Amino acid sequence: MNIVVCVKQIPDPAEPGALDPNTKTLKRDTKLILDESDAYGVEMALQLADAAGGGEVTLVSMAPNNETAGLRTALAMGAAKAILVSDPSLQGSDALTTSKVLAGAIKRVEGADLILTATESSDGYTGTVPEQVAELLGLPSVTFAKSIAVEGSTVKVERQTEAGYDDVECPTPCVVSVTAGVVEPRYPSFKGIMAAKSKPVDELSAADVGVTAGGWAGAGQEIVAVEQAPAREAGEVVEDDGTGAEKIVAFLENLRVI
Ligand SMILES: Cc1cc2nc3c(=O)[nH]c(=O)nc-3n(C[C@H](O)[C@H](O)[C@H](O)COP(=O)(O)OP(=O)(O)OC[C@H]3O[C@@H](n4cnc5c(N)ncnc54)[C@H](O)[C@@H]3O)c2cc1C
Repeated sequence: MNIVVCVKQIPDPAEPGALDPNTKTLKRDTKLILDESDAYGVEMALQLADAAGGGEVTLVSMAPNNETAGLRTALAMGAAKAILVSDPSLQGSDALTTSKVLAGAIKRVEGADLILTATESSDGYTGTVPEQVAELLGLPSVTFAKSIAVEGSTVKVERQTEAGYDDVECPTPCVVSVTAGVVEPRYPSFKGIMAAKSKPVDELSAADVGVTAGGWAGAGQEIVAVEQAPAREAGEVVEDDGTGAEKIVAFLENLRVI
C-alpha cells in the first residue's frame, strides 16, 4: 500500500521565531523542524504499510528556503522518499494556495492509496488544508481519525467526536486527517538517521506543481492583525494548613470536574 503523508516543517516551538509586523506572519528564516502533529501521521502511515505487508510512505511538504530538516526526521522514522515544494514566489501563500501546491505534488506520486495529514498544524493553523487538498484531488475526505484500518480498497476510520467516535468507511484513494496522540511516534534510530541522509528528496518549484499565482498576490485572505499569545498566568497555589484537601475538592467542584 502506498501512502502519502503531508508534513509541515515549522519553527521550533522551543525557540519560536519572531512575528513579522510587516507581513503579519511568523518569520520562518530559522531551521524548521517536523511539526509534532505530523509525526502521528508518519507513524500511522508506517504502521499501515507494515500491516499491508509492503508499500511505500512518501512525504510531501511545502516550505521556504529548501528546508529539509523536518523531512529528514520523518525519513529517519522510516518514510521512503519526499517531495519538497520550495519557491520564493510562494512566500505569503494562504491556506488555499498551500493546498493547491500540496495537491499538485501529490498528483506526482503514482498509485497513492491513502493521503494522511494532521487535523491542524501547530503553528499558524487554520485546520482547513486536508479538506481543501481532498477537494482539489477530487477524493473523499475523512477528518479527526483516531484509528485507521485498511481492508482491501476500503478505509475504516474511527472518527473522534465530542461524545465518543463514529465508525466511518470510504473507498481508497482518500484523504484522512489524524488527531494527535493516536499512535506513539517512534524515535528515529541511529541507523534510520544515517539512512535518511541518502533517501531521495525531490525538490520542485511552484510551476512544477502547476501553481503560477501563489504568494501574497494570489492570497484570497488578508491577515489584519497579529499579536503575541498572552503569557500563561501562574496557577493558584494551595498552602496545606491542614485544610488543603478540602480546598482542592472545593476548587475542583467549582470547575465542575467532580
Ligand atoms: C494572506 C496569508 C499569507 C500567509 N503567508 C504565509 C507565509 O508567508 N508563510 C507561512 O508559512 N504561512 C503563511 N500563511 C499561513 C498559511 O496560510 C498557513 O499556515 C499554511 O498555508 C498552512 O495552513 P495551516 O497551517 O493552516 O494548515 P492546517 O490546515 O492547520 O494543517 C493541517 C495539516 O495539513 C498539512 N499541511 C499544512 N501545511 C502544510 C505544508 N506547508 N506542507 C505540508 N503539509 C502541510 C499538515 O499535515 C497539517 O498538519 C499565510 C496566511 C495568509 C492568510
